[in-house]
Amino acid sequence: MRKDVRILLVGEPKVGKTSLIMSLVSEEFPEVVPYRAEEITIPADVTPERVPTHIVDYSEAEQTDEQLFQEISKANVICIVYSVNNKKSIEKVTSHWIPLITDNTDKDSRVPLILVGNKSDLVEHSSMETILPIMNQYSEIETCVECSAKNLKNISELFYYAQKAVLHPTGPLYCPEKKCMRTLCVKALTRIFKVSDLDNDGILNDNELNFFQRTCFNTPLDPQALDDVKNVVKKNLSDGVRDNGLTLKGFLFLHTLFIQRGRHETTWTVLRRFGYDDDLELNQDYLFPLLKVPPDCTTELNHNAYLFLQSVFDKHDKDRDCALSPDELSDVFDVFPYMPWGPDVNNTVCTNEQGWVTYQGFLSQWTLTTYLDVQRCLEYLGYLGYSIIAEQESQASGITVTRAKKIDLQKKQTQRNVFRCNVFGDIASGKSGFLQAFLGKNLKRQKTIREEHRSYYAISTTYVYGQEKYLLLHEVFPDFDYLTDADLACDVVCLVYDTSNPYSFEYCAKVFKHYFMESKIPCMMVAAKSDLPEVKQMYGCSPLEFCRRHKMPPPQSFTCNTSTAPSKDIYTKLATMAMYPHARLRCMCTCNRCTFCLCQNFLNSELLQTIRAKLYAVVLRRHVSQADLKSSTFWLKAGAGATAFAVLGFAVYRVLLKQR
Ligand code: GDP
Ligand code: MG
Repeated sequence: MRKDVRILLVGEPKVGKTSLIMSLVSEEFPEVVPYRAEEITIPADVTPERVPTHIVDYSEAEQTDEQLFQEISKANVICIVYSVNNKKSIEKVTSHWIPLITDNTDKDSRVPLILVGNKSDLVEHSSMETILPIMNQYSEIETCVECSAKNLKNISELFYYAQKAVLHPTGPLYCPEKKCMRTLCVKALTRIFKVSDLDNDGILNDNELNFFQRTCFNTPLDPQALDDVKNVVKKNLSDGVRDNGLTLKGFLFLHTLFIQRGRHETTWTVLRRFGYDDDLELNQDYLFPLLKVPPDCTTELNHNAYLFLQSVFDKHDKDRDCALSPDELSDVFDVFPYMPWGPDVNNTVCTNEQGWVTYQGFLSQWTLTTYLDVQRCLEYLGYLGYSIIAEQESQASGITVTRAKKIDLQKKQTQRNVFRCNVFGDIASGKSGFLQAFLGKNLKRQKTIREEHRSYYAISTTYVYGQEKYLLLHEVFPDFDYLTDADLACDVVCLVYDTSNPYSFEYCAKVFKHYFMESKIPCMMVAAKSDLPEVKQMYGCSPLEFCRRHKMPPPQSFTCNTSTAPSKDIYTKLATMAMYPHARLRCMCTCNRCTFCLCQNFLNSELLQTIRAKLYAVVLRRHVSQADLKSSTFWLKAGAGATAFAVLGFAVYRVLLKQR
């Protein structure tokens, strides 16, 4: 919102400029006035629009042309005053004043003009007949008003119109020649309609209208007013009201009506509430609220933001198949100025058989954007109207900035929900296959991916000791000499080699020795393409020996050449290593027969979940208040007692075995 309004009065000498100002201030007509009134400032609380307002007089006798030009360029609105009983002063409006103002103002920043006919007490007739053609000729003329400094007629109105012309200009909203709203205004209101149509049925029902009214004007509409609004629309427009709700057509009609009746501040209030500036663009402060992300910290969506995105998904998944078809997806992004997701997204997150982004995939992609480019995420949430619908201060309140990783490492505990795994490996070692398998695609399905649609990221969720976490895989381009800091920064490293290619392992060994041997980041070696015959690697020692020497888990066999979706065990392990970098996971096999595997599976099993939930309930009833319950710290602490659960798991497991 604007800080203040500067109103300048110009016009021929003796038309009554100074008298108008003095009349406004003293509320009586001054018989004697100086050539020029001092600049006055009206404090915000006594003006109708609650903004400080400066009123500036001009006098040819006291001021030079240079001074006049300066005042013109400083003004937010200019009142051109003429005297209704003086034809010459009217002629000068077009022959002198308007061209002078045009010459002394920026071409882009249009200053609104108001034509003021003073001394209406002296004549019987109105000057409107002469003035209307002028108004039609110049679109910068916002309005005209006849008044009298002597009778105090229309004086406060005049200054109110001037204020309004600055704060709520009609120009950007409405085209007086065509008698309809301008394209940009229609576009903005259409977006507002779509955001407010919470169930996406193309109609604003009473609930939605009330919510809309409350967010824009801080008060709900009473039922009578609601009916009145609908009746007005119904009377004028056959398809403005449907199923007792307002259609988009009806909504746009209503705003046209507001504007035509001089109530365009109503439309402006709506537009501003939804983030629009005077040019009807979403303003930068709205799209990019301040969010500080210190180094070593990452950004994640919080619970509130996920709930909101969930509602966005539900609203657009019209056929309820838990996936967004191309049409449904483009409907989601209809409130965006451009399509934010390319076809690569379908190869970055989980999709259904048709290749459409699933519910889980939808949230994953948002998680990825938040993690990699939080500014973009703020912008996107802004287009969706997050702060308005979720009733939050700004999009920034949907973001959690995690604490520095250094501190996580010191405390051996983390509250993060997203972990990044960078995947290294020589050309054709199987990195992409490894990424795509995380999304449930086997080799056969991967072959259908077009080169230009491929992605270097894959993100999905996996369970770490019963807690759902996001794992973000990033395929690093195998150019040994050009690894950037971003390529190296991650929570866990995955080194992929092709078991069937004898020259494949060397790259992994080289990357490890050069970049990660000294770092504290846990590393995992993956022996990809394990469906093919294994060959001896041309390297000083075997991969197994290499891992043993460097205290890494043994190489993990992996293949995505499966008949069904590839196994996800390996990703769970990666996420576990990322979350607990200190822990030495004894067994890294995927046999599903040994104690570790059984234990891991058991921990995730339904039975244990129930037991655990019951245990929580008991513990909670004793110690934990409702507030603690909500805080993720508590859950993490409870979860981080993983060892305790492992022991517990064992106990129950043994009991079960005995029973068998
Ligand atoms: P300025 O040169 O435009 O600032 O005009 P002034 O305020 O000095 O007014 C010029 C003359 O017009 C003065 O004699 C005022 O008393 C007179 N005047 C100003 N406003 C009105 C009005 O509304 N009605 C009448 N009858 N006289 C006015
Ligand atoms: Mg004067």
